[in-house]
Amino acid sequence: MTPRGFSSSATAGRGGQGVVNVLTSNLAPFTNPSEKDNRAAVVLTRGEGVYVYDTDGKKYLDGLAGLWSNALGNGNERIIEAAHAQLKRLAYQHTFWNRTTDIAEEYTSRLVDFGRHRGVVQTFMSCGGSDANDTNVKLAWYYWNAIGQPSRKTVIARKQAYHGVTITASSMSGMETIHKGYGPLPLPWVRHVSTPHYWKYGLPGESEEEYSARLAKELEAVIVREGPDTIAAFIAEPVMGAGGVIPPPRGYWGSIQSILRKYDILFIADEVVTAFGRLGERLGSEFYDIQPDLYTVAKAMSSSYYPLGAALITEKVADAIKNQANKFGVFGHGYTYGGHPVACAIGLECLNIYEEMQIWDHVKRMTPTFQLTLKQLETHPLVGEVRGEGFMLAIEFVADKASKSQIGTKVPPATILANECMKNGLLVRSTGHVLVIAPSLVYTMENFQEMFTKLKKSLDSFDEIV
Ligand code: PLP
Repeated sequence: MTPRGFSSSATAGRGGQGVVNVLTSNLAPFTNPSEKDNRAAVVLTRGEGVYVYDTDGKKYLDGLAGLWSNALGNGNERIIEAAHAQLKRLAYQHTFWNRTTDIAEEYTSRLVDFGRHRGVVQTFMSCGGSDANDTNVKLAWYYWNAIGQPSRKTVIARKQAYHGVTITASSMSGMETIHKGYGPLPLPWVRHVSTPHYWKYGLPGESEEEYSARLAKELEAVIVREGPDTIAAFIAEPVMGAGGVIPPPRGYWGSIQSILRKYDILFIADEVVTAFGRLGERLGSEFYDIQPDLYTVAKAMSSSYYPLGAALITEKVADAIKNQANKFGVFGHGYTYGGHPVACAIGLECLNIYEEMQIWDHVKRMTPTFQLTLKQLETHPLVGEVRGEGFMLAIEFVADKASKSQIGTKVPPATILANECMKNGLLVRSTGHVLVIAPSLVYTMENFQEMFTKLKKSLDSFDEIV
């Protein structure tokens, strides 16, 4: 039987079975909309733990945890029960104008506890990562106005970074795909500095530490050129994610932080991917000993059972906001669904589960198996680099290992391989020349074995195609 909304004709195309043509009623994100009436898409209908199933009943191991986000897999009864109970008790009330809900209060105080050892004293609730990043930029501006330095407006971000797609977040994202076609993007108060990718951009004979020092110098030069009293904040992911999983080179965060401190610039850590255990610590900032002033969290926060995000605010910023209130009265910012009761109930249960499981320790224990096993793929003639940290990994393809030149196939190599993986029942992601893997945080040894087998099989047939 053809499910509603699907064309009955085609089941062939990109990954073979399981791929059907869907009507293009939805302008789908990061998808080519040029296929006029319908497009080939994998249509998933149900999930069970770390597996998902398509309309033909084909089973896939999810190697990307949805979008780096479904940390506990599908079908977690405790989360479902928490959502159900909250829906029955109080489906909706907001947190505006001195009104709030018991669940929003309970959850946000638990979130503060979660980040307290890193200086967090307050939260601001959003529905995802982009709007939490917007909030953090507004908080940075508000902060500088509050302490009498209103000229500080510029935000420094990094090329290849991904911070989301609202106008502010897409401006800070350093990807051409997100800017082109929109005219005024990125907005004029954003500057981008270099991607910290040593394998790709390190000079011959330059050590990782020297490369990091060079990038810190570049950051300083931008600050000095713009005028330190015009810079509000620096925003960065502890490990660059959607830009192709780029862990920082040795010494990078130490060098960058000392420049930020020298010029008294606020540091926003975009931990949308790295918070809640993906690097084997509660927060990715902990892993690298980064001390941000503001954190952005989302994704694993609710294990993606519900849209949820937050800005986590440290004391310095929180105090300035309180003082500014004497002038403005209210803090003029808020989303209808920020602090949604169901989102908070889900977030709270996720946090309970993470704490009980000490999920970050599980990730830490499993990381060597994951990283070292896949690192062996670097011996493959078309693999230039396998890199990663925790449960984040990338495989970058090259035509020639010495020159690192790209493979010139019409369909980029990682896309070919991602499609092979899909045929073999493994969901991963291609960014063109880079294959990205980010499993759920509950992956077992058996799940990893299955992933390795499927990846190896896909890579074997990939040799014939490329
Ligand atoms: N920041 C980072 C680091 C992300 O990876 C993402 C999404 O992938 C976002 C922000 C945007 O989050 P959302 O899609 O929830 O708006």
